[in-house]
Amino acid sequence: MRLILLGPPGAGKGTQAQRLVQRHGIVQLSTGDMLRAAVAAQTPTGLIAKDIMANGGLVPDEVVVNIIADRIEQDDAKNGFILDGFPRTVPQAEALDVLLKKKKLKLDAVVELRVNESALLARVEKRVAEMLERGESVRADDTPEVLSKRLANYREQTEPLVHHYSDKRKLITIDGMMPIEEVTAEIERVLAAVTKADETAQAAKRKVASKRAAKPARAARPAKAAKKAKAAKKAKSKASAKAKRTVKKAAKKTIRKAAKKVSRGAKKAPKASAKARQGTRKTGAKAARNRTGRAVKAAAGRGGKATKKVAKRPSKAAKRLTKRR
Ligand code: AMP
Repeated sequence: MRLILLGPPGAGKGTQAQRLVQRHGIVQLSTGDMLRAAVAAQTPTGLIAKDIMANGGLVPDEVVVNIIADRIEQDDAKNGFILDGFPRTVPQAEALDVLLKKKKLKLDAVVELRVNESALLARVEKRVAEMLERGESVRADDTPEVLSKRLANYREQTEPLVHHYSDKRKLITIDGMMPIEEVTAEIERVLAAVTKADETAQAAKRKVASKRAAKPARAARPAKAAKKAKAAKKAKSKASAKAKRTVKKAAKKTIRKAAKKVSRGAKKAPKASAKARQGTRKTGAKAARNRTGRAVKAAAGRGGKATKKVAKRPSKAAKRLTKRR
């Protein structure tokens, strides 16, 4: 599980982080603790951070981003972590988004502890008194003056992260004014719901993926075959349309030819009738009719019905011949 704890100083982030560590077996990564260790060890980072921290300011983004980038690489963070006090600015949150994406790590939730500002001062004063009682050294930035500066920083620089993470649907807001136990119980209740929702989503994803993995071989083939059959049908209908056009064209040509032939026959017919007038009238007319008939028959044989229609026309000429007789 990977979590961010968000909240102003004194909201109880440290206390709740400790409980989450115990319950979930994950590590707490507190940039404040790491920076304090660096200051104590007088490392180059510690030297940069020392005065800034003492004045309640924010250590430069690149410094804390580098610290976190190194820390989440370590073995104890492989199981998950709670970021406490990081990110504190939008650029830090964006850098973390990039970092997690690069490492293919998922952020489960951002838990915001919302508290009443005026109550925070009283809390910090109480904490300081308790530490002094135990003989512990008190943090340099745990004074009322520095605390009000840290609160102002939170409002200006850190609160915009509420929008950043609610846009990403990661934000869980919890009333940090409740007693510690109740806050813990509420965090656990919400995290359980997040985990369950996540598991359901993962199971649904796996189901879809396994269905897809099982289907493609069977599903792809029919789709391909259907495409092929469609293309073949299209090609066939195209070819038959072309064939029809060719036949029609040929028939028309034949008809035209036949019609010409017939009309030539009809023109010749008067000559034949003159011959008939000279000789045997009956024989001449008969010859003309026969010629016309033969032409018509020939044309009809080649051109079909249409030819027959056209062939009817010359028979009028034959009729005229008969009339004259
Ligand atoms: P904290 O213990 O989280 O209250 O942090 C103590 C101080 O460390 C802060 O007041 C800052 O000066 C510094 N610090 C801790 N975390 C960050 C951070 N993410 N960005 C900048 N400064 C930080």
